[in-house]
Amino acid sequence: MALYRFNITRLYRKKGAPVSTGVGRKALLMKTVDVQFLRLAIRLAEEAREAGEDPFGAVLVCDKTVIYQGRDRCIENSDPTAHAEMSVIREYCQQARVFSLESCTLYTSTEPCPMCAGAIHWARIARVVFSVSQASLQTMSGGKPKPSAESIINMGRKNVEVTGPMLEDDGLAVFEGYEWQPTALRPAAHGNDR
Ligand SMILES: [Zn+2]
Repeated sequence: MALYRFNITRLYRKKGAPVSTGVGRKALLMKTVDVQFLRLAIRLAEEAREAGEDPFGAVLVCDKTVIYQGRDRCIENSDPTAHAEMSVIREYCQQARVFSLESCTLYTSTEPCPMCAGAIHWARIARVVFSVSQASLQTMSGGKPKPSAESIINMGRKNVEVTGPMLEDDGLAVFEGYEWQPTALRPAAHGNDR
């Protein structure tokens, strides 16, 4: 099987742990199919940015086929839970009338946040591959450290394979020059007093 050899030098130049799960050297070898789907998730993040949303995208894959894809729609939907991963899981399950995604892989442009990691846990997604790490995201956005996606996805349950960061330079490029909108500028029901 054709494999994509990740650029180890560039990978370790990054801050923090380069790979979130203990899969060792195997994590540095990416299947061509993973590269293809992760690039699609990154492209969806670009689309989100062009649409005025925060730049995040996600792709749901089953049997090496894209079964659903999405991007952030928080502003468009006035829904703070409309992250790319949440939207993909919710919309696909509702449309397909299914409750479990246990044979699926979710590709995300950035490591899932705690909310989305919880949704991935409850949807029983089998595998997650992400580009930009939460640590890198926080460095860019100035946010506080969050629990790793892996620690939430695997709460009290089997070991879901959570792999990343992969193609992180590509994923980071989507954020180049991006201005994070301060919370104070986002509409709030009772003002922004926190
Ligand atoms: Zn999220």
